[in-house]
Amino acid sequence: MVRTDVGVAVGADGRIHSVAADAELRRTHPDAELVDCARGVLTPGFVDSHTHAIFGRARYEEQEMRAAGVGYLEIAKRGGGIHSSVRDLRERSEEDLVALAAERLRRLAAHGTTTIEVKSGYGLSLESELRTLRVIRRLATELPVRLVPTFLGAHEVPLEYRQAPRTRTEYLDLVIHEMLPAIASEGLARFCDIFCEPGVYTTEESRRLLTAARAHGLALKLHADELENGAAAELAAELGATSADHLAAISEVGIAALAQSGTVATLLPGTMLFLGRPRQAPARALLEAGCAIALASDFNPGTSPTVNFPLVLTLGVSQLRLSVAEAFVAATVNGAAAVGMAAELGQLAPGYLADIALFDVADHREIPYWYGDRRCQRTWVGGRAAHTP
Ligand SMILES: [Zn+2]
Repeated sequence: MVRTDVGVAVGADGRIHSVAADAELRRTHPDAELVDCARGVLTPGFVDSHTHAIFGRARYEEQEMRAAGVGYLEIAKRGGGIHSSVRDLRERSEEDLVALAAERLRRLAAHGTTTIEVKSGYGLSLESELRTLRVIRRLATELPVRLVPTFLGAHEVPLEYRQAPRTRTEYLDLVIHEMLPAIASEGLARFCDIFCEPGVYTTEESRRLLTAARAHGLALKLHADELENGAAAELAAELGATSADHLAAISEVGIAALAQSGTVATLLPGTMLFLGRPRQAPARALLEAGCAIALASDFNPGTSPTVNFPLVLTLGVSQLRLSVAEAFVAATVNGAAAVGMAAELGQLAPGYLADIALFDVADHREIPYWYGDRRCQRTWVGGRAAHTP
C-alpha cells in the first residue's frame, strides 16, 4: 500500500508507533525529534534473505572465463570456483574476515538493506565453519544492520572427502555429529541450509541433515532446484522449511507442493543474470499457484557479487515479470517471512521494528526504474540511524 503526505513515529523501544499525517504526528508527539525526509520515499528496509557474505578474495577472473565459454569444471581446474573460496577462507584469521565482510555489508546497507541473512559455507571444516559463524556473530554486534546467521556446512563436499579413503558420507557425518551440536550449543545459527542439487547433495542426504538440524532447534532452508530439478522444492515443503531458494528448475509438482506449504519461494534473479543464463525461476506460475515469493541478492563471490538490492527489484520486474508492488512485497514482507520474522519485520506499521529506508525519489516506482543507481539516502535499524550519507 502506498501512502502520501505521511510520517512515521518511532518509539524509544525501536518500534513504529504510528504512520499518520504530519500534522497529526506533530500533535500526538510534540517532543519528538524530527527528521525531514524532504518528500522522498520511505520504505521498510529491504530484507535480504539469502547471502554468502563471509568470504575472502573476490573471484572476478571467472567472469571472463565464463564469457569465453569455459565451463564450471574447467574453471575449477584452473583454480577457481567454490573450492578456491574454501581454500582462501581457511587461511584467513577471524580479524581479517571481519574486516572484509564489514566493508561489504556496509555497501549492502547503503542501498537500503537493513536485514541480511548471512550463510557460512566457505569453510567446510569444523574449525572454519565455526570461525565463519563467530565472524557473523561479531558483525551483528558491531554493524548497524540486522544479521541472521545460517549454517551452510553442506554447501559442497570438500575436496579432501572426494577421494579414498575418505567419503562424502563421512563428511556429512561430520556435519551432523560434530558441526551441528557445536553450533547449536553456542547458539551460532538460526537456520541450517544445504545445497540440494543433482551433483551436489541428494534429496536423501538433505533430508538426513535437515532432520538432524531441526532436532537441534534450527529452522530450515534449502538451495533448491537451481540449475537442474531434483525435487528439492518438494522436500522443502515436506520438511516445513522456512524457505526454498533459487528454483529456476522447479517442476509443476514442486510448485504445487510449495503452494500447499508455508515455505517461502526465494528467488535470486541476479544470479542468473550474472551467470548469463537465460532461464529464470517461474515467478508468475509460483504466484498464480499461491506461493509467497521473496527476492534476495544471493550476494557471493562466484555467482552474484551485487550489493545493490534495488537492482534485484529491477530484475524482479523485468526478468521475473513481477509488478512493482509484488517486487516490494517480495523484498520486505516476504523477505521477513523467509527469515522467520514476518510478525515484526518488513512493514511500516504500528508495532513493527523501525527498520526504514529513505530514497531520493518522488515515487516508489522510481526505485526499480533507475536501475543500477543508488538512490538510498538513509536507513534506520530499530529506529537508530544506520546508513547515513
Ligand atoms: Zn546461495
